[in-house]
Amino acid sequence: NRYITIKTQVDGEPKESDFELKTSALSLSLDPSSNDIIVKNLYVSIDPYQLNRMKSQSSSQKAIGFAAAITPGEDIDAYGVAKVVASGNPEFEKDDLVVGLITWGEYSLLKGGKYMLRKFDPMGFPLGLTAYGGFFEVCKPKKGEKVFVSAASGSVGNLVGQYAKLFGCYVVGCAGSKEKVALLKEKLGFDDAFNYKEEPDLKAALQRYFPDGIDIYFDNVGFEMLEAAVVNMNTFGRVAVCGVISEYIDATKRAAPNMLDVVYKRIKIQGFLAADQMNVFPDFLSTTTDHLRTGKLHAVEDISDGVESFPSAFIGLFRGHNTGKKMVKVADE
Ligand code: NDP
Repeated sequence: NRYITIKTQVDGEPKESDFELKTSALSLSLDPSSNDIIVKNLYVSIDPYQLNRMKSQSSSQKAIGFAAAITPGEDIDAYGVAKVVASGNPEFEKDDLVVGLITWGEYSLLKGGKYMLRKFDPMGFPLGLTAYGGFFEVCKPKKGEKVFVSAASGSVGNLVGQYAKLFGCYVVGCAGSKEKVALLKEKLGFDDAFNYKEEPDLKAALQRYFPDGIDIYFDNVGFEMLEAAVVNMNTFGRVAVCGVISEYIDATKRAAPNMLDVVYKRIKIQGFLAADQMNVFPDFLSTTTDHLRTGKLHAVEDISDGVESFPSAFIGLFRGHNTGKKMVKVADE
């Protein structure tokens, strides 16, 4: 089995030399009462938060217990789709397609029943609960409200913008290239979009795009973008803090929004995790499946090939190389 691991704890922006490809022997004969399962990995999700697991963790991060540290040399677990090749668990059979926590490798040995795995229905499992739950549950939108989304061409951001448009909001997104801006405006139905790298003054840019102020800011990046958004928020505005990717690579890039603005404008700033949003999963599933079927919602995917591509796929997230949901295809079937 060939798999990717980190050589040491990652410091700052991730680079190719932080990773290595290793090979381990994998026996396909399992003790039938072990509860272990071996799966062949097909598609693996590539997510920015993994960087926080690769760094030395702060005491508060450890205390929260979410996203435990990755140990150098060991498997990197990640969500994905896989096919069972051997099973010591009566609930899963050889050739079952499954979804759950697998690894950055060709195969995953999932030990002793302590895995999160379920059978996968290719017709009924769209991605996007973070965007759906974050937008509808945390932002509590009203029709006609003005919504700003950062990292808007990314996996979460593009869906937030599309859901917001389908719901009846006015939506502006920012992204890091002119191709991404064109995608948002021309294909995904955003009312407007801009390249934040070409804006020397983000506060002024947001004032230009939102002359009547922002009601909802869906934050994927943190730092200066959050500071600029708060200045431009309307009274009783809501900020959903989904992620702070600027801070993942540089801890000094921590947002310091004007808190007097927050008080006087009664702005609500709330962090959330996709895992909190399971109560809206049935709504998410039916709405998303319908919209995908009727073509009102576009799935934007960005897929790299082969186990060797894990490091570059991951590093690319922090350099804006991806458009839409980043995945690695390890095998067809
Ligand atoms: P994306 O597909 O959005 O990929 C990351 C994108 O972020 C890049 O393509 C890049 O686009 C942009 N970016 C990278 N570095 C910076 C930077 N320093 N400043 C501004 N933009 C940057 O990733 P995801 O959709 O998977 O994740 C988006 C955010 O949501 C992340 O912060 C992630 O951690 C968070 N998240 C949170 C979850 C939760 O449960 N709360 C679940 C999933 C994701 P560009 O070209 O526009 O710069």
